[in-house]
Amino acid sequence: MIEALQRRLTERHQQSRYRKRRVLETAQGPRVIVDGREVLLFCSNDYLGLANHPQLVAAMQHAAQTYGVGGGASHLVCGHSAVHHRLEERLAEVTGRDRALLFSTGYMANLGTVTALMGKGDHILEDRLNHASLLDAGLLSGAKFQRFHHNDLDDLERRLKKLPASGQRLLVVDAVFSMDGDIAPLPELAALAKKYDAYLMADDAHGFGVLGHGGAGCCELFGLDQDQLPVLMGTLGKGIGSFGAFIAGSELLIESLIQFARPYIYTTAMPPAVAAASLASLDLLSSESWRREHLMALISHFKDGAAKLALPLMASNTAIQPLLVGDEALAMTISAGLEAEGVLVSAIRPPTVAVGQSRLRITITAGHSVADVDVLLAALHKVLPSALRVTAQLP
Ligand SMILES: *Cc1c(COP(=O)(O)O)cnc(C)c1O
Repeated sequence: MIEALQRRLTERHQQSRYRKRRVLETAQGPRVIVDGREVLLFCSNDYLGLANHPQLVAAMQHAAQTYGVGGGASHLVCGHSAVHHRLEERLAEVTGRDRALLFSTGYMANLGTVTALMGKGDHILEDRLNHASLLDAGLLSGAKFQRFHHNDLDDLERRLKKLPASGQRLLVVDAVFSMDGDIAPLPELAALAKKYDAYLMADDAHGFGVLGHGGAGCCELFGLDQDQLPVLMGTLGKGIGSFGAFIAGSELLIESLIQFARPYIYTTAMPPAVAAASLASLDLLSSESWRREHLMALISHFKDGAAKLALPLMASNTAIQPLLVGDEALAMTISAGLEAEGVLVSAIRPPTVAVGQSRLRITITAGHSVADVDVLLAALHKVLPSALRVTAQLP
């Protein structure tokens, strides 16, 4: 075992794929102290800048006074507190669904939902670029599992046509793709799901809180109701600035998950104070809607600036704005160069993305200012090798 592990670690190093953790000494925000040095942060998923919002902090402190710290037991034993229950009711209301069910993390929500709904003899179709948790869930479920080309409705329909008549069908996509930032064509996917009698599930980890006029995410952006998009997953640790995740849908779906989703059943309930912070954040979605507007303005500002500098931007209109580099080692060099300029952007490499698709995953948040984005653009201008500049600008 020791030799085998050493060999694998050495190989990772040689491939420029070795990952290291940085130590953060401050709260999330545009400026943080990392490994003892202040940097401007452009890789957090705290899209609305709520992770350190005083109202979230106060809600958590207040709930800890009332409910203590530990969840104590699983939801089905005696860990389901009134504040968890209120949060579920609010999430159902916000998403326009019958009910919502809290999970401790998004990874668990995906694993639990797909494996509860699907089994041997069933068919799962997933976008190739889906989040690792959805791909793992598909494999673990025991169902026949296929991946279609990214956002390719023709490829998907060809595959749907070929499915045998027996077994259930689940179509699963990321609503916003986590490493690319582009959005799934959900209305078209809903139509295909209906036509071929498949159940549609969307993972809105990067859209919930951010997309849609009121921040309800992809379902609001596209106006998709519970019949069109029956399984809606959202997370609370990104745009919402707290922690945890949920599935929203019909009474039948939620009751089935309570009975059959193992990562729901066999785990301790999240601390009630964490749920209280999420509730406070949902209040801010409406009372501080300027956060979404400011974020959208910053995204436009960044894209305009990047186009002027001929940076290799990918086609995204969300807070995730990746720059395609290709080579792992080069992505690491650029990331290190940016860090030397005081700007932290992480290099995303295989196996998170395909070989030859290494990139800088820039994320912009409502906590940033226009001046911060200008600092990022200047640093990119200085550090990015000219070979990576694109000559023709994408439309
Ligand atoms: C982050 C993420 C998850 C996992 O959510 P956690 O709450 O962090 O476990 C699931 N799906 C997507 C698309 C994500 O980006």
